[in-house]
Amino acid sequence: MRLPNINGRWQIIFGLSPPYNRDVGTADVVIAGAGIIGLSTALELAEDGLRVTVLERERAMSEASWAAAGMLAAHDPENPAALQPLSNLSISLYPGYLANVEELSELKIPLRTSGTLQGSTPGHHFKAALSSEEVASRLPELHSAGRSFLWLNEHSLDPRDLCAALPKAATAAGVAIVEQSPITAVRNGPSGVSITTPQATYEAEHFINCCGAWAGAIASLPTIEPRKGQMVTVKLPSHLHLPYVIRTPELYLVPRGDGRIVIGATVEHAGFDKSVQETTIQTLIDDAVALWPPIRNAQIVETWAGLRPGSADGLPVIGACGPHNCWIASGHFRNGILLAPATARVLQEIILDKTPSVDLSPFRCDRFDSAAVSMAEVVH
Ligand SMILES: Cc1cc2nc3c(=O)[nH]c(=O)nc-3n(C[C@H](O)[C@H](O)[C@H](O)COP(=O)(O)OP(=O)(O)OC[C@H]3O[C@@H](n4cnc5c(N)ncnc54)[C@H](O)[C@@H]3O)c2cc1C
Repeated sequence: MRLPNINGRWQIIFGLSPPYNRDVGTADVVIAGAGIIGLSTALELAEDGLRVTVLERERAMSEASWAAAGMLAAHDPENPAALQPLSNLSISLYPGYLANVEELSELKIPLRTSGTLQGSTPGHHFKAALSSEEVASRLPELHSAGRSFLWLNEHSLDPRDLCAALPKAATAAGVAIVEQSPITAVRNGPSGVSITTPQATYEAEHFINCCGAWAGAIASLPTIEPRKGQMVTVKLPSHLHLPYVIRTPELYLVPRGDGRIVIGATVEHAGFDKSVQETTIQTLIDDAVALWPPIRNAQIVETWAGLRPGSADGLPVIGACGPHNCWIASGHFRNGILLAPATARVLQEIILDKTPSVDLSPFRCDRFDSAAVSMAEVVH
């Protein structure tokens, strides 16, 4: 429920009214959401000496960031062109980002693949396509079915490694992560922004909304919506090996380097539903067998679904959103794992009043329709 503007204060309330006699915490920055975007940003800011608190509705790294395939697909031809500068920045930051998280957490986050065979839609020919001999020498069993293929020097990681390491790294850097703390209200407070959870109120100079598919509820941005993705992991028999990611516009196979292969993923408009349908999983497997037949020998080991934060134009929303010192970083859709280091960097630059490393105008929150913008502006 949204309450109207009261005495010039910004107020979004859903569920609970703020109780009285509450604990009050203070921080330079309060971040909503302990997914990869919120925690990477928190880590970056804490390493700059800011006091950062992350409030998480459930458990850290338990939503989209847990569900992802983990491709760092900066050169996927399906990506919107406007994403390229942010993707390039992220790729350049990734080695240092992983080394830092590994050092702080004392946990390893190995790169699982170092190359991708990118297929076109059937009938389309990439300009820089590999010859059929080159494709066959990379992966003899690949069925092209009228597709052309590019070779991409691209990496992937297992997001479950990050789920273990990133909260540990952020905590080691001094970030306070408060789980089971859903934000119920955000309003202008005496020293900046006042953020309410059922247990406590936090006063902060800055507030950043990193709530992924749920970010629209806090920012009143109906254009951020969940995009469901169903996935399956299979295990190959030990005599078979897939060395690269195979990706087409409809399907990807992402090997983990230990015989497990993640096959994904659907892109569904299904609200916040995370159920897994057996028929959908079977279709993913059938399509994977058609592309790379050895998969027919694999056993299913896990199925799941996750909710990508989608936006109306497929681009993230990064920057000012709503009242003074309220910021947003969401809508990373299919590329949030790739884009986390760059998003954290540009948010750090914004908060510290520096010029962002990339032009953020394609990601402005007020680019959406006037209804959404005027809703956001009501809260001043
Ligand atoms: C099936 C699938 C495959 C994917 N594959 C890839 C891939 O290969 N490569 C890639 O780069 N990306 C991939 N993605 C996309 C990537 O996972 C997301 O873009 C990224 O994880 C988004 O991170 P986030 O931190 O914004 O969201 P999340 O990880 O969803 O985190 C948001 C957090 O906010 C919390 N929250 C919500 N509301 C509140 C509230 N009111 N108060 C406090 N906390 C709240 C949630 O509980 C959650 O923990 C994939 C996603 C899916 C689902």
